[in-house]
Amino acid sequence: MSFIPLTEEQSEIQRLARDFALTEITPHAVAWDREAYFDRAIIARLGELGFLGMMIPEQYDGLGLDTWTYLTALEEIAAADASIAVAMSVHNSLPTQMLLRWGSEAQKDRYLRPMARGEMLGAFALSEADAGSDASALTAQAHRDADGWVLNGTKAWVTNGNTADVVLAMVRTDTSEDRRGARGISAFVLTPDMSGFKVGKKEDKMGLRASPTTQIIFDDLHVPADALLGEEGMGFVYAMQSLDNGRLGIAAQAIGIAQAALDHSLRYAQERKQFGKALREFEAIQFKLADMALRVVSSRTLLHAAASAKDRGEAVTLHSSMAKLMASETAMWVTTQAIQIFGGYGYMSEYPVERLFRDAKVTEIYEGTSEIQRVVIARELYPASDP
Ligand SMILES: Cc1cc2nc3c(=O)[nH]c(=O)nc-3n(C[C@H](O)[C@H](O)[C@H](O)COP(=O)(O)OP(=O)(O)OC[C@H]3O[C@@H](n4cnc5c(N)ncnc54)[C@H](O)[C@@H]3O)c2cc1C
Repeated sequence: MSFIPLTEEQSEIQRLARDFALTEITPHAVAWDREAYFDRAIIARLGELGFLGMMIPEQYDGLGLDTWTYLTALEEIAAADASIAVAMSVHNSLPTQMLLRWGSEAQKDRYLRPMARGEMLGAFALSEADAGSDASALTAQAHRDADGWVLNGTKAWVTNGNTADVVLAMVRTDTSEDRRGARGISAFVLTPDMSGFKVGKKEDKMGLRASPTTQIIFDDLHVPADALLGEEGMGFVYAMQSLDNGRLGIAAQAIGIAQAALDHSLRYAQERKQFGKALREFEAIQFKLADMALRVVSSRTLLHAAASAKDRGEAVTLHSSMAKLMASETAMWVTTQAIQIFGGYGYMSEYPVERLFRDAKVTEIYEGTSEIQRVVIARELYPASDP
């Protein structure tokens, strides 16, 4: 259910995404989750459909679509498998958008075009073991050498970390004699074939198990001078601005998870009988279903407002934090209700809502925790001129 009218083109893309998800993702999602298996072939198929270059202009081999069309497709993929959706979200929202906004024409030719065509998958490496919410405390360090830079350090929890072809990494370029805080961080465009690029530990996770989350280690990683993205010292600013877009993708992922939990619950409440009646005839269950639908639709409506503001060229820091916060808390709440509606079966891994519940949790954590979204929202409530 949605109160947002779609254009003919948006409906067509939504249908395409839904059909693709139903035929090529849903039948495998349970096994991929159990085996923590990331199917790279599905990523290639998403690329063939154009889903890895949705917001990249046609000039750079993308589809040049608006944000809402992209988020509508992403929601459909997330309803089938949140692990595939996060790969699509990170790729579309972070590395490709950073290359588009701040990359040189040579970097766009070399990386952005194949990424838009889905021939290269992107990753975004900001977090470190001791720098999560406080990402500007990161310590990975680049030193200049004769031909470029030498990087050392370890990035934590990189989505697509062991499978990405291009990694946008935030690394310090200030020196120990002249520390510049957030303005001492630069963005680099890295590829796994560079000497000194190593993939570290792959995490074993509660949910999103089919999405690989790994360390990336820079061990005297030599990169040429043209691996720097944009201006030296601006990498943290680029990352923060990109996360405003990234959070819209995570909100769509969360709404996809919540919608799937609602759909399963509606079906189950119709089929399951107790005391001689279908569950849906009990007022307690009806009220749960009504509240679940209300929160899903409200989250989607807020996300649509945020996407529209972005496409009008407005600053969306407040919109995207609100949309991500509401959608991720909706996903957690709705999947919790879904398990309750399924009763004991909801707790069993043969039933789909258990995976949705595990997958929902991370949406409250990555790309800024719910606490950090509230910090951002509270800050944005005061005009910049207020003390
Ligand atoms: C599955 C997964 C995939 C990820 N993918 C990526 C990726 O691709 N690239 C990447 O760079 N990172 C990635 N991350 C990292 C993610 O962005 C961080 O986990 C997240 O930003 C939180 O940082 P932290 O885990 O260090 O928690 P911490 O920052 O240590 O926070 C711990 C708790 O303290 C709270 N807290 C911290 N500071 C404040 C404050 N100022 N006010 C109130 N509360 C506060 C937090 O909200 C949280 O509840 C991923 C994480 C996961 C789990």
